[in-house]
Amino acid sequence: MATLDIHNPATGTLITTLDADSDASVAAKAAAARAAQPAWAALPMAERLAVMQRFRAALLAQIDTLAATMTQETGKPIALSRNEINGLLPRIDFFVEQAEDAVHDEHVFDGGGLHEQIAHVPLGLVLNISAWNYPYFVGCNVIVPALLTGNAVLYKPSEYATLTGLHITRLLHEAGVPPAVMQCLVGAGAVGAAALAQPINGVFFTGSHATGQKIAQAVAARLIKLQLELGGKDPTYVRADVDVRAAAESLADGAMYNTGQGCCSVERIYVHADVHDAFVQHFVDTVRGMKRGDPMDDSSYIGAITRAPQLQVLRAQVDDAVGRGARVLFGGQVLPGPGNWFEPTVLVDVNHDMQVMREESFGPIVGIQKVDSDDEALALMNDTRYGLTAGVYTRDEAKARELLARVNAGSVYWNCCDRVSPRLPWSGWGDSGIGLTLSRQGIQTFTRPKAWHLRAPA
Ligand code: NAD
Repeated sequence: MATLDIHNPATGTLITTLDADSDASVAAKAAAARAAQPAWAALPMAERLAVMQRFRAALLAQIDTLAATMTQETGKPIALSRNEINGLLPRIDFFVEQAEDAVHDEHVFDGGGLHEQIAHVPLGLVLNISAWNYPYFVGCNVIVPALLTGNAVLYKPSEYATLTGLHITRLLHEAGVPPAVMQCLVGAGAVGAAALAQPINGVFFTGSHATGQKIAQAVAARLIKLQLELGGKDPTYVRADVDVRAAAESLADGAMYNTGQGCCSVERIYVHADVHDAFVQHFVDTVRGMKRGDPMDDSSYIGAITRAPQLQVLRAQVDDAVGRGARVLFGGQVLPGPGNWFEPTVLVDVNHDMQVMREESFGPIVGIQKVDSDDEALALMNDTRYGLTAGVYTRDEAKARELLARVNAGSVYWNCCDRVSPRLPWSGWGDSGIGLTLSRQGIQTFTRPKAWHLRAPA
């Protein structure tokens, strides 16, 4: 039987070895889930809502254990692990509050003996292939609304967050989701590929652009629902009218939170020349104050790099930038092991010839580029194949709105960054993906509309 080793990226030690799913067990789980889905969908919504409320309560009750597991397998600092689980609670509340209203029958016309209504029917069996960087958020953005709307779920957590995926699955089962309806698959990409070959009705993927393309190709012939939440190269523009120190502190947090391993982590900053030097000074001071260390220590802010191969990507981006004239003002180095560690890194004198301003870094690296005008900043922000988030820091709301309206991104921020709201749709434009999660639409997306044309007999 194939196995999956789970390592602690902060120390390099083996945590445990799990039995991985085989093609046969993936097929058996998919078949069981398909068979169990109609009965789950037939339950009154109130029962599914009650299940999610019990799931929420269990997350809160077990937060210390759950956070410790996530920290050990991902290297995320423990305070941030608790933040993530605490941050999931209002998302669940949103889904629970909105689910019934989002998918109840809509009666849209009644007249002349004709009645028209829209029903929202569950897709059936949905596959969630997930990432490791915010495993509770990205997993539950799909799993919770999918289950609430009556779907069965095949869930393939990342091989770098599998113990967390197993916790999520266990808690849902204990809360009352029938085990057949919510199935966790253990393994790496091959297990995800095996799941894609099953008769699923939709695939909801979070991960890299490269894998997203493979997923899209794997299901293209079947015309099933496909959502891809992919990477970003998230820019922010700092105008000259800001409180420079406050902007620098906010953006340093946006760049370095979760050790920069966020799809909406700030990766490019364009600063007006009038405040560039002061901004850079405050930014570097803020980064210098961020404590790097044992992720299990409550005071650590910078943790490990979860995937060892990413160290070389970060190293190569820094080398490429320096080779083309950038200056490293802070960090820049892979740290000696054990474990995977990279220094928080601040680069200036960067430009768009450099990989660090074009390709996703997904680590604690940021490039800061000087600009002379709003138009120059806007052109640079839009000079990307990605389109996940973008922000503007300024005191001038009208100017912020004008600039952000012209930015090609699914989420835009005025005087904030690295932020996700359950009330707003989360969607990538361009190579950042297709489809959306969160918001009311992120509930309806797990259903398909059925149009009823009803003519009463004369
Ligand atoms: P990844 O693409 O390496 O892996 C994602 C998932 O796909 C994993 O579960 C993996 O096992 C699976 N997989 C790999 N190959 C597969 C295949 N051929 N068929 C089916 N499944 C396969 O990404 P990652 O390293 O886990 O996550 C990091 C990426 O995710 C970054 O690019 C980040 O920006 C992105 N991300 C995006 C969002 C968003 O909301 N847009 C959120 C979090 C992360």
